[in-house]
Amino acid sequence: MKLKTFSPQDIAGKKVLVRVDFNVPLTGDGRVSDATRINAHVPLIEELSRAGARIALCSHLGRPKGQVNQKYTLRPAADELAKIIGRPVAFVPDCIGPDVPSAVSSLPAGGVAVLENLRFYAEEEKNDADFARKLTAPFDVFIMDAFSAAHRAHASTRAAADCLPSFAGPLLIREIEMLSAARDNPKHPFVLILGGAKVSDKISVIENLMAKVDTIIIGGGMAFTFQKARGYEIGHSLCESEKLDFAGEMEDRAKAKGVKILLPVDVKVASEVSADAAVKTVPADAIPSDLMGLDIGPETVRNFAGALQNAATVLWNGPMGVFENPLFAAGTRAIGETLAEITRSGAMTVVGGGDSAAAIVQFGLEKEVSHVSTGGGASLEFFEGRMLPGVEPYVL
Ligand code: AMP
Repeated sequence: MKLKTFSPQDIAGKKVLVRVDFNVPLTGDGRVSDATRINAHVPLIEELSRAGARIALCSHLGRPKGQVNQKYTLRPAADELAKIIGRPVAFVPDCIGPDVPSAVSSLPAGGVAVLENLRFYAEEEKNDADFARKLTAPFDVFIMDAFSAAHRAHASTRAAADCLPSFAGPLLIREIEMLSAARDNPKHPFVLILGGAKVSDKISVIENLMAKVDTIIIGGGMAFTFQKARGYEIGHSLCESEKLDFAGEMEDRAKAKGVKILLPVDVKVASEVSADAAVKTVPADAIPSDLMGLDIGPETVRNFAGALQNAATVLWNGPMGVFENPLFAAGTRAIGETLAEITRSGAMTVVGGGDSAAAIVQFGLEKEVSHVSTGGGASLEFFEGRMLPGVEPYVL
């Protein structure tokens, strides 16, 4: 999938509005605790600055639900960006209205401003065309660079594209390039790894990719619904009873298509998720009734790693266990390390955003796979085969 991007004459000396994702975590005293999302947009900001553009960045932060709420101000993100780029960043305490054009006009060529939270207006989440017109009115050009918000049809992610000459930014382009290479043109063998808490979140991904994959590896909490459907004793482990039929059907469909489904053969269990939980490893079909499965066991790690050895393309979404707790992190870490190893031998490895991205960063492996997506919900919807509303206007 190719997207429309800008050429130097589209941005030189122009007033440019960029939709970024500055939805960053904040400390109790209102400082940015993780600037990953801000850093992701810096290459675009620097490129626009070098072209002498006057740049305004707009974003949401949290869920202020259409009300002005200083708990969700983007001022800390503006301060953090100033530190990162080493020059002043203006903060505009509104995203529409008279403050914006006056602030943008007083920027020097190459100067940067951050506008206040878009979600202080209810119209933003309603994809309101009038709000999009007000937002874009002071500008010459609009650039959509917020992949992680591209699954939402909001005024700043969708309607804004109809108001000005509009282009996809480099972060959005790289995401779509990497995710669509894996989703639409995978080299085989193509292995899909799914984990995390819920089957229901991943049903459409399984359905969409079933026709393309050679193997589906299922770990994490969602594996137990599949185990239960096979008739295993899963104790207190996570289970979505209303998805048992789906799990059974998927196993039948996979068999008919010659797709291998790999489930855990052993599981680390405990009675609770705590720092000093008593952990033991048991066979996956015999989890004691008072315990729950919280990570894949060592034999499962060997099986899963073995199935990944000759993979040419791997898509990974969802951790193999409760990786936030070191007692249950080994399975997720081992999958991350296996992906790093096969990437070195030439496989294309793509990690969906959200918790699997958090896990790969926790293990320091984010640079050792082909791509870690910045979008949790957006990457999941993309793997479901959907056209994302924030991407559609730029598809060539
Ligand atoms: P999801 O958002 O569906 O990808 O789920 C991610 C969450 O699933 C993480 O916070 C993990 O701690 C959790 N998780 C993974 N494996 C298990 C498990 N076996 N039991 C309970 N939670 C799990």
